[in-house]
Amino acid sequence: MAVTMKSRCVFLGAPGAGKGTQAKKLAAAGSVPHISTGDMLRAQVAAGTTLGRQAKGCMDAGQLVPDDVIVAMVVARIAEPDARAAWILDGFPRTLPQAEALDRNLSRASALSLVVSFAVPEPVLVGRLAGRRTCGKCGAIWHVQNHPTRRPGLCDACGGELVQRSDDRPEAVGKRLEVYRSQTAPLLAYYRDHRLLREIDADRSPDVVYQELLKLMQ
Ligand code: AMP
Repeated sequence: MAVTMKSRCVFLGAPGAGKGTQAKKLAAAGSVPHISTGDMLRAQVAAGTTLGRQAKGCMDAGQLVPDDVIVAMVVARIAEPDARAAWILDGFPRTLPQAEALDRNLSRASALSLVVSFAVPEPVLVGRLAGRRTCGKCGAIWHVQNHPTRRPGLCDACGGELVQRSDDRPEAVGKRLEVYRSQTAPLLAYYRDHRLLREIDADRSPDVVYQELLKLMQ
């Protein structure tokens, strides 16, 4: 179903909150770019670029890649022709300096329209991350219990092999949640103050969350 959506949206949430899944679906329905900084960094790692080599250490340790690196990457991406009018930013900003840099780079005419926060209790996040598997070929996201494939280890969509993200291993998950609490959660107050924040209870099925998201877009 084609969807009319707010033009420039930020999806905020802890790792495992489901923002990537929702962003992918909504962006496809609204024909707008889904800009995931995590996906962009993983593509750089896979391609073996200098940026990818720099980022990999931080990512595997569950830490954030330095602000200046990420900001430069996002500013270049939103200047591309397909992103002039609308986009969904997924996983960016993640720190206050990133949010301020984004504001500085958006003119009044191209300001943010909406920030959606996906709220999920921490024990649920841990379970989601531990069981998350990604198709190495098409990028589809599965879960060993909550959203299993018909053939274990193989993607239902394309038959590709499923892999666990290196930063979904237990050693990195605790660090990522701590980074979220200390560095990203303060953005909720920032965007609340800017009257842009809307919160969604994302501890529900993806379909229910998506329906709520569609209501917010109207
Ligand atoms: P994600 O796929 O959004 O969970 O991101 C995976 C990893 O990429 C994060 O744990 C960080 O190491 C890095 N990353 C993604 N987005 C950002 C960002 N906005 N700022 C800093 N690091 C990021």
